[in-house]
This record gives sequence, C-alpha cells and structure tokens, in this order.
Amino acid sequence: MQTKTQSAIEAAANAFLGWGISVVVGQLVVYPYFGYEITIIDNFGMTAAFVAVSYARSYLFRRAFNWLHKCHRHDWWTREDGMGFYEQCSKCNAIKDERE
Ligand SMILES: [Zn+2]
Repeated sequence: MQTKTQSAIEAAANAFLGWGISVVVGQLVVYPYFGYEITIIDNFGMTAAFVAVSYARSYLFRRAFNWLHKCHRHDWWTREDGMGFYEQCSKCNAIKDERE
C-alpha cells in the first residue's frame, strides 16, 4: 500500500522521465514525420501540457486502485501471541489498539 505522498512522488518521477523522453522523440521523430517544424521551446511547453494531464491521471488512477484494495470494513479476528489476545483484521492486518 502506498501513501498519498509516495503515489505523488512516483507519478512525478514517472511524468518527468516521460516528459524528457517525449520531448526528444517528438523533436526528432514525431513532429518531423507529420510534417511539423517545431521549436524546442514550443516542444517543451506543449509536451509539458500533455505530461501534466498524464501526471494527474497517473496519480488519481493509482489512488483509486489503492482505495479499491484497502480494507473498508475491518474484519476482526482474535489472535494470540506470547503477551495475550488481540484483535487483528484478516483483510488489512490492522491491529485493534485496545491492549493494556
Ligand atoms: Zn481491515
């Protein structure tokens, strides 16, 4: 399970790398192939716009799947260790904090 910060960092790193790759591929291959002459400055800006959308999608998509996978209703089961009994969720392994 990722925290929101971890999801944001991963999505940002992924988007930043994708931005660099897309600028290079766009400049050398895609725009020339389709007959467009584009300055590297415009390329940076246009690609950044696509990357911003990609970043948001990547982050939200990952958060959605984290939400889908997490436990929404604890399913407590009694367990025992050397110190006594405690309740643990069988889905997310959370432990009920009621030990004395
Ligand atoms: Zn749970």
